[in-house]
Amino acid sequence: AAPDVRFAVARARSAEDHPASAATLLDVLDRHLQDHADRIHIFYEGSEERTQPISYRSLAEGAARVAARLQAAGLRPGATVALMLPTGPDYFYSFFGVLMAGGVPVPIYPPSRPQQIEEHLRRHARILDNAGAAYLITVPEARAIGRVLRVQVRSLRGIVTLEGLDRETPSETLARPAPDDIAFLQYTSGSTGDPKGVVLSHADLLANIRAMGEVVQVGPDDVFVSWLPLYHDMGLIGAWLGSLYYGIPLVSMSPLAFLARPVRWLEAIHRHGGTISAAPNFAYELCLTRITDAQIAGLDLSCWRWALNGAEPVGPETLRRFAERFAPAGLRADALAPVYGLAEAAVGLAFPPAGRGPRIDCIDRDRFARSGYALAVDCEDPQAMEVVACGRALPGYRVRVVDDAGRERPERHEGLLEFRGPSATRGYYRNPAATRALIHDGWHSTGDRAYLAGGDIHLTGRVKDLIIRGGRNLYPYEVEQALGEVVGVRKGCVVAFAAKDPELGSERLVILAETKERDPARRTELARKLRERATDTLGLPPDELLLVPPRAVLKTSSGKLRRAATRDRYLAGQLSEQVRRPVWQLMRA
Ligand code: ATP
Ligand code: MG
Repeated sequence: AAPDVRFAVARARSAEDHPASAATLLDVLDRHLQDHADRIHIFYEGSEERTQPISYRSLAEGAARVAARLQAAGLRPGATVALMLPTGPDYFYSFFGVLMAGGVPVPIYPPSRPQQIEEHLRRHARILDNAGAAYLITVPEARAIGRVLRVQVRSLRGIVTLEGLDRETPSETLARPAPDDIAFLQYTSGSTGDPKGVVLSHADLLANIRAMGEVVQVGPDDVFVSWLPLYHDMGLIGAWLGSLYYGIPLVSMSPLAFLARPVRWLEAIHRHGGTISAAPNFAYELCLTRITDAQIAGLDLSCWRWALNGAEPVGPETLRRFAERFAPAGLRADALAPVYGLAEAAVGLAFPPAGRGPRIDCIDRDRFARSGYALAVDCEDPQAMEVVACGRALPGYRVRVVDDAGRERPERHEGLLEFRGPSATRGYYRNPAATRALIHDGWHSTGDRAYLAGGDIHLTGRVKDLIIRGGRNLYPYEVEQALGEVVGVRKGCVVAFAAKDPELGSERLVILAETKERDPARRTELARKLRERATDTLGLPPDELLLVPPRAVLKTSSGKLRRAATRDRYLAGQLSEQVRRPVWQLMRA
């Protein structure tokens, strides 16, 4: 059994710790060093559930050692430094170490299995090249990968590993970034294309953290629990930097630890008295399928007041099932909070008001598909389509829905979602064309379609994934969800897209569903069932419904569907070939 750390957590708290006057991340750390350097900042749950505490002082010292190593390697101020490290103390030290050395961190995900190395390299070579990365900090085992990257990425001057960091003398010539300096580059997930490097300044980060903290009402008794990867904004900014800012303890574990045994997440909340924790919808689903009743019987989740669900579409069924299944463990139904955000806004853009609980809007499906008007109907109505409310714009932020010509649309009319606010990025790093497409007249495009109702954002799908058929707008998400529920189909591994028929030139509506089923008779039956279900949900039959083997549906490193990339593969006739998928997906397979 893991040691009881409640005592330590209790000691780690005190009132009023967020450095309201801080203007950069380094100011934030400085304030904690002045006020309570030895208080525990992070409880890192390493292998075998051993808890390793990291104080503000150890973070600062570890970082100053990394800074020394980078300076010795010749790092110049403003240079970009890729971090390819798993969750753990070295990651935390390195992120701040790069900042202290005057560099700009670029978090990327570490490779986890030999089979995926090729795909990993291809993707990262492009990212590092765009970032103009001068150094790559990684684990010694990844040196070989580093050498390959060095050949492919011309800007890369050196690979830095952190063996013997303890013996390094901490640097004393530390950089003092200004609020508008770049704090790091957040590469987007790459759901709709190549990942783009969102530029985020210190001021952007602090503005977004403060806005989220205001809604969440972060207080001295809060404890954040997170297994989210640190190479994405939700884990990096939402969980870690947010906890750092507010001076509340962060209980941290790696995504792999969670995926291998999902109950670890909830056990950590139970054991540490976690009050805030966030995850994408698939993680809540994973808890439903992989946690046993006996395990639930040992959990007390009554401490959990914000169970944030965002980063990918939130399933109404997931919300209901999760609330019901974990109610006996004391989970409060109003803790579940569907939220919305994107890297271009730092991380969070919309949260529901504190304590409200999830809200689901039922609209007339047919009317919506034909006219884009979200007419509210009774949820029992057979025409009802459920849309999860994903909260209101954070304080200081604004959202609006516009039509294709940029005219603002009224409530309940669907269109393109735009936002503005204090952390809206100034653009994509070294990518003027994408930046021009992102920002216009002071507004930022989200790339998502939505309608507003009662102040809440209701997301309907991504602009690039919308399918138009016979004068109707079809949204892939709902049909994908519905088919994912059919027995024999791999949940979360269904995609719908429109593909141009190369001969006819017309658009075909194609659905791919992964299955492990091999028996021909049962496959035929499954395909029939899926076709029927799809027709019910869409109001028309798909032109093609294909059963495909596991991993034919492509996903991002964070588990999001890559519809366009999957479509390209389909069009190239490459579906049956063994397809590689990154970290999270392999673990879920
Ligand atoms: P790329 O921009 O490279 O295609 P991405 O948009 O997935 O990738 P992120 O910035 O990491 O990259 O994710 C933001 C996107 O995630 C949003 O634009 C939206 O499409 C989706 N998203 C986030 N929260 C929600 C939510 N609650 N419901 C539906 N979609 C969401
Ligand atoms: Mg995006």
